[in-house]
Amino acid sequence: MTEAAPDAATVDASLTTVEAYQAAILRAITPLPPVSAELAGAEGCVLAEDVTAAVSLPSFDNSSMDGYAVRAAETTHSSERAPASLPVTGEIAAGDTAAYRLAPGTAMRIMTGARLPDGADAVVPVEWTNGGDAHVDVYRPAEPGHAVRYIGGDATAGETLLSAGVRMRPMQIAVAASAGRKTLRVRPRPRVVVLSTGNELTEPGTPLVPGRIWDSNSYMIAAAAREAGAFAVRRSAVPDDPAGMLPALEEQLAGADLLITTGGVSMGGEHDVVKAALQSLGTVTFRKVAMQPGMPQGFGTIGAGQVPIFTLPGNPVSAYVSFQLFVRPAIAALQGAGDLRLPSVRATLTAGVRSPKGRRSYLRGVLDGGQVTPLSGQGSHQIAALGKANALIIVPEDETSLPQGDTVDVLVLSQPTGQMNVPFICL
Ligand code: AMP
Ligand code: MG
Repeated sequence: MTEAAPDAATVDASLTTVEAYQAAILRAITPLPPVSAELAGAEGCVLAEDVTAAVSLPSFDNSSMDGYAVRAAETTHSSERAPASLPVTGEIAAGDTAAYRLAPGTAMRIMTGARLPDGADAVVPVEWTNGGDAHVDVYRPAEPGHAVRYIGGDATAGETLLSAGVRMRPMQIAVAASAGRKTLRVRPRPRVVVLSTGNELTEPGTPLVPGRIWDSNSYMIAAAAREAGAFAVRRSAVPDDPAGMLPALEEQLAGADLLITTGGVSMGGEHDVVKAALQSLGTVTFRKVAMQPGMPQGFGTIGAGQVPIFTLPGNPVSAYVSFQLFVRPAIAALQGAGDLRLPSVRATLTAGVRSPKGRRSYLRGVLDGGQVTPLSGQGSHQIAALGKANALIIVPEDETSLPQGDTVDVLVLSQPTGQMNVPFICL
């Protein structure tokens, strides 16, 4: 039996699917060359080498509690009524490097992290004793190994602790520090330059005259790039000037690992100067992607250094959704990582939604627990609604409406707070 053919009416051959476009982008991205980074500056970078344990972790047997180092067998019969009473012969603090020896029939006071004396095989927590200074009464038996952290209990010397490709988040920074590493080979945070284009754009903070709007895209996309771990800057908006467009873009290449423009790529009108300028280069491909918002997309390379460039649509919501779907994974790929796709969850629609046939919708919504509420104002210019959203509701290509109560895939937009721009990080 053959499978039923997909409904031909839902497939528009002139459109690229979201997945095909994502795959084409990732195929074209070459990871940045590794650099040497100081441990403190490696945060957010992606490891380009394996980190192995220089020594076993822990590197010496030590106590996991404040208490008394003992021979476990000497506490076997201890109880509240008949405590083992042991003379206390000394005290070992964390950081004490002396090699102590526990004489039979004695105890030594020991602190968390302090080296276990030779001869001891357990630590009786202070709570199980009378806390005595010269003598200690032990009220409970301690099993051999109790409250002892043995050498190599976490990792053995030479073991791989971090593998190339892992992103250096705080946990991984701690591991590298614990392996004694001062510098690391990492792929740096990509340097992203964002340029918005359009004669109508005015800088926020300056007066608005009818016919003009304040530029929001460049601020938004630079912030989104930083949230994705890049070192991102925006430049002043570029006017729709056919002759000046290419030089304006090329001017940015020296300091960029990735260029992002917004606007000027619609359906080929004479004002779509980004498309016109880059199309003539032949290294940037413009496609229509089967999605809403964000159908017109451009991606390719520019300049001798073949710097990747995304030309995002001008409508702010389109630019934002396009960034999340296409640019975020590309930023990860520049670091040799694959970890930047938005997390996806399933949720129940609290209201019905509509979507154009043949295009996948990414509707702005508010996700709360297992429920997602579509926001009113789904136009791709409606940035006020975008500001209320914490999720993108996916309506598949072959659906034109989904009723309240349906379960949908939802991309989660809430992310950990982005990095500040610290120019020396990883550079
Ligand atoms: P375009 O893709 O250049 O045709 O622009 C599409 C729509 O997005 C127009 O309404 C533009 O005014 C608007 N737009 C373009 N760039 C920006 C920007 N940087 N900030 C806010 N809106 C923009
Ligand atoms: Mg424009």
